[in-house]
Amino acid sequence: MQINLTKVLNEPDSSMTVSGVADVGALEAQSDMTFPSGARFEMVFKNLMDCVTLSLKCECEYLSECARCLKEVKGLVSFEFESIVKVDDESGFMLDSDAVLISSSNRLDTDELVAGLLVGYLPMKVLCREDCRGLCPTCGHDLNEGDCGCSKKEVDPRLLKLKALLDNDK
Ligand SMILES: [Zn+2]
Ligand SMILES: [Zn+2]
Repeated sequence: MQINLTKVLNEPDSSMTVSGVADVGALEAQSDMTFPSGARFEMVFKNLMDCVTLSLKCECEYLSECARCLKEVKGLVSFEFESIVKVDDESGFMLDSDAVLISSSNRLDTDELVAGLLVGYLPMKVLCREDCRGLCPTCGHDLNEGDCGCSKKEVDPRLLKLKALLDNDK
């Protein structure tokens, strides 16, 4: 969604609240997660004479799979973000370390902003639970459901080497 910040940028003491659901599907290509219901957000912009501030709250459900047993895992990320908004025509939209920069069209793409922030809050590694035992490397049995009877010594060392290579590839 494109929002226009002209009024709040130009009128001292004004404020503007925008809420909605951001489409963060762009992140699906760079993570092994999907976001079936988008990211709910609320943004409050305030003109404080010498600067415009942004307070953002966001909550997003994700689906992913456990890194060990591949079971589907549903999680929730929520975060709050505070910054100031500055117009900088040279950079266009950019998340600077101390400001959100927008071009002089005064437009902000809420999907782009929410996705740009959300990516920093997603877990690096998703587990169905902290102590997930994963899958047996020999037969693929889910070890959370009990032992499979494979002896770990029987694993062909060449397969282990291959597995290590594949794991490194991730
Ligand atoms: Zn698991
Ligand atoms: Zn097994």
